[in-house]
Amino acid sequence: MIRTQDLAYAVENISRRDPEIGYALSELLAAGRIRIPVDAGSLGKDPCFLFEDNRVFVRKVSFFNHGIAPVEERLVLQYGEAAEKHRIEEIPSPGDFFAAATRIHLAGIFCLVNFELFNAISRLKKKIRAAGSSTDLENILNARLKTLQQMLQEPPASFGMPLSSKEPLYFIEMQRSVDCHFVLFPFSYAALGQLAQLNLEFFHLRFVLDLFITGASHRLFAAVSQGKITGMMYLVEKKRLFYTGLEIHYVATVNGISLDEQTLDYPRIRGTGTFLMAGAWLLWKSRFPRASEIVLDAEIGAEQFYDTIGFDFRPPYGYLLKHPKEKLLLYIVGMAMNCDTLPDRLQAAVIQCIKQQIAILRKSIPADDPKRKIAILAVSTCNQGGKNKSLAAVAQHLVSRDHRRIPEAGMLLQVLAQDDADRSRHILVKGASMIWVVSDPVFDQHLEGIFHMESRKRTRALASILAKDPFADRVIPVQPRAATEDELAWVHLPEYIEKIAGTTGKKLTTLDPDTQTTPQSYAVARLAAGSVFNLIDAVYKDPLHRCGMACIRPPGHHAEPDRAMGFCLFNNVALGAAYLQHRYKAKRILIVDVDIHHGNGIQKAFYDSRQVLYFSAHQFPCYPGTGKLSEIGTGAGKGFTINVPLPKGSEDKDYAAVIHFLLQPVALQFQPDMILVALGFDLYAQDPLGQMNVTPDGYALITYMLKQLAKKVCSGRIIFVLEGGYSIRGIRECGLRVLQELVDLPTLSPEKIRRMTPEKPGSVPELKKAMDLHRTFWPSIP
Ligand SMILES: [Zn+2]
Repeated sequence: MIRTQDLAYAVENISRRDPEIGYALSELLAAGRIRIPVDAGSLGKDPCFLFEDNRVFVRKVSFFNHGIAPVEERLVLQYGEAAEKHRIEEIPSPGDFFAAATRIHLAGIFCLVNFELFNAISRLKKKIRAAGSSTDLENILNARLKTLQQMLQEPPASFGMPLSSKEPLYFIEMQRSVDCHFVLFPFSYAALGQLAQLNLEFFHLRFVLDLFITGASHRLFAAVSQGKITGMMYLVEKKRLFYTGLEIHYVATVNGISLDEQTLDYPRIRGTGTFLMAGAWLLWKSRFPRASEIVLDAEIGAEQFYDTIGFDFRPPYGYLLKHPKEKLLLYIVGMAMNCDTLPDRLQAAVIQCIKQQIAILRKSIPADDPKRKIAILAVSTCNQGGKNKSLAAVAQHLVSRDHRRIPEAGMLLQVLAQDDADRSRHILVKGASMIWVVSDPVFDQHLEGIFHMESRKRTRALASILAKDPFADRVIPVQPRAATEDELAWVHLPEYIEKIAGTTGKKLTTLDPDTQTTPQSYAVARLAAGSVFNLIDAVYKDPLHRCGMACIRPPGHHAEPDRAMGFCLFNNVALGAAYLQHRYKAKRILIVDVDIHHGNGIQKAFYDSRQVLYFSAHQFPCYPGTGKLSEIGTGAGKGFTINVPLPKGSEDKDYAAVIHFLLQPVALQFQPDMILVALGFDLYAQDPLGQMNVTPDGYALITYMLKQLAKKVCSGRIIFVLEGGYSIRGIRECGLRVLQELVDLPTLSPEKIRRMTPEKPGSVPELKKAMDLHRTFWPSIP
């Protein structure tokens, strides 16, 4: 807490350095216009004072070491703003309010930076005089003096920092396309201006400039993103008899402070604290060979955070770090991979980390244990796409040497061999609960400009969910690509493909009473099918993120080899299954159709195949009329088509029962390589084309059950491909729940799941019949 005498003392100090500012401030102080608020004690950790009735916060500082410099600094800044405001008010028509506010804000910062630079220069001159005849020291000090004087002469127009001129020590992509750089604090007017603006705890200007004057600035580091400082760190060597540690003396990030309107455009990047710790660890291993560990003061707070990333609390020393964990480990490996070369000692230390992770993979830790997930991420970060080729080679060697004892070795080796830096960075950044998603405005172009039930509002509804929290950071985008004619011919007849291609450029073509095309429809339909291929690639190759969702249109499950039907042109899901067969030589593929309508097109494409099991539960009777219980496949494919025709009005629990009592045992016996879900939102109770009674809770449950099933039978590989669903509200509400389940943000309690799953199949007569009929092919059915 600040007391009135602290303010008086601060003003007195300012007067000694700048009589003009000091005089103005002492007048304001005497008039009570600068004062301590009555409720000062109850305002949390940051002390504050009132300046013309505005609260001015002085961030947590060590008052003992640096006097009341932070109070002085805030006073000078306020003075600068007030003086500019006064000048503007003198002008008859001051003009644009926002421009004026910006000018006032900048004037405060310039005033403060200039004030502290002048101060620093006079302290430095004193030092030079004291150095006397020692010319070496004098030269060094004079060089520093010159730097400061130059800064004063060239104040910048804005405080952004072009980073290209500053070599980052380390960097990493922290969010999609946002690089974060770990740099030596760049001593420049712009950087000082940013610090003045940010008012970070510990890092006030006088402290920072003192480090420069005394030659300690090589231990001051910053996290910089998009030209802006997002965090600061000051390291010292902590020395005792027979002991040296590298102490993180001060650390602060932009995330920890509240920003005012003028600083709102500062990037706030989650994980900046961990990023700075990773930088400290890399420095420790490369530049501070004597230090036996990293030390943090015990009073620093945020114990839990330090605990999760690998710090041990050991009184009286405080927090000690030797072996990084979790995100810290991933950042370290990622930053090391982004360097061409590392000093030998550091490279050896990173390799040691990788070895420890591989040791974890050799143990029989379950697949969903966080420790195992982190180990997979850490190792897969070392792929050939990174700059540090020798580290990548070491990781490859270590995994292949132990490949018999690591279940994920095949996947890992595939990822490690990839020369695609982007992918590895994504894997690194995203953590465990990410999904691959296709969502692209290009799908708007089908049926553009005409009224149709199957409208772009459907995919847009999903896109708007994906753009917001908590999905924005949990989605790894997959780009659409056009399926080739050869690929389309896996399912469709060449004459049919030609027919659809022929609609290109035509304003409106009617293919069947429900199914129309517009000029771009053929191109968009090829992109929809190709998107499923790309999504399969992503999910198939990724050792960790094995869920995907394709928010595409036109839909596909009614499209037959030679015929467009029910809003569908090309059969996206059937083509996806064919892609798995051709590209990955998949032997068994399970397709689950949860649209209210029977997917006649998918059924037809694989009716005689025992490699693709088509499972559909749908309203019956209903469009398109197929999907009777007795349709079970033909020839070798007998038993590999399973239809559960359900009466209208079926509910959440009926679907749960179908999955639990029929799909699950069949899938366990079938052991597919991957599950493809044809996902319609038209089971939703208020869908204009359907008459089922499924709720958003029901969609969450279906998703949850399918995902669990995928984990049991095919290492979690599952993709959801959008089919029908014509209530936009239904897509929005049910889509949200599906996506939440997919990114592991469960929305149903275990209790609720139990309540929603019937104990006996008997409540659904059609299910009983289907079970009895298919038990001949699938003895696993109870
Ligand atoms: Zn449908």
